[in-house]
Amino acid sequence: MSSNNMVSENLNKIKLSLPKGVTLVAVSKTKPVSTIMEAYDAGQRVFGENKIQEMVEKHEQLPKDIEWHMIGHVQSNKIKYMAPFVSLIHGVEKFKVLKEVNKQASKHNRSINCLLQIKIAEEDSKFGMSVNEAKAILKSDELKKLKHVNVTGVMGMATFTDDKKQIENEFKTLKSSFDELKELESTNHDLRVLSMGMSGDYELAISCGSNMVRIGSSIFGERNY
Ligand SMILES: *Cc1c(COP(=O)(O)O)cnc(C)c1O
Repeated sequence: MSSNNMVSENLNKIKLSLPKGVTLVAVSKTKPVSTIMEAYDAGQRVFGENKIQEMVEKHEQLPKDIEWHMIGHVQSNKIKYMAPFVSLIHGVEKFKVLKEVNKQASKHNRSINCLLQIKIAEEDSKFGMSVNEAKAILKSDELKKLKHVNVTGVMGMATFTDDKKQIENEFKTLKSSFDELKELESTNHDLRVLSMGMSGDYELAISCGSNMVRIGSSIFGERNY
């Protein structure tokens, strides 16, 4: 099988298995533009990258109807490079990041959709804020002043473990945090995206209520760093 067939077959298999209403983000980090084009030619339009510089370079080279999602840790000083085109930033961990996104988005006369990253894993290496911090941000007057940012949901990553029960508990925790945060009324956020689930755990994530999955290796194969 050529690699071309492999990417499109993997993609089609996954797409068929996803319930209606679940968005697939094809995580293309470390993969060359030629491989991304294979997925594009198979109909995929939403791609996720975890490094701003790499996403910017790929955006320049690839068709402009691709929706680029930043799924990695966001460094404030690099937000300006993706502000002209990024369609969703998954990994917002502090208010300061929203402020900088707002500032850079305003220069391009656009609004950028953002997800608050909630820490659900027990490892210290996984970034994110507590649900109380998210609540404080969503209730704040400061957020209302950011006219170029829309907080559209939350994102989380489960612990890297074989213990399915633990992963399931973490996903359920995020789902209930999402439901709780949705209850908070405000004018400039409308929480509808729950981004959770990767190659190894997306089916479980969907059964726990995820409506956006970020899948890399099951589409493109293992990554060589
Ligand atoms: C790399 C990455 C993924 C995709 O991981 P796979 O296991 O290859 O599907 C999903 N989410 C985030 C935040 C990532 O960094």
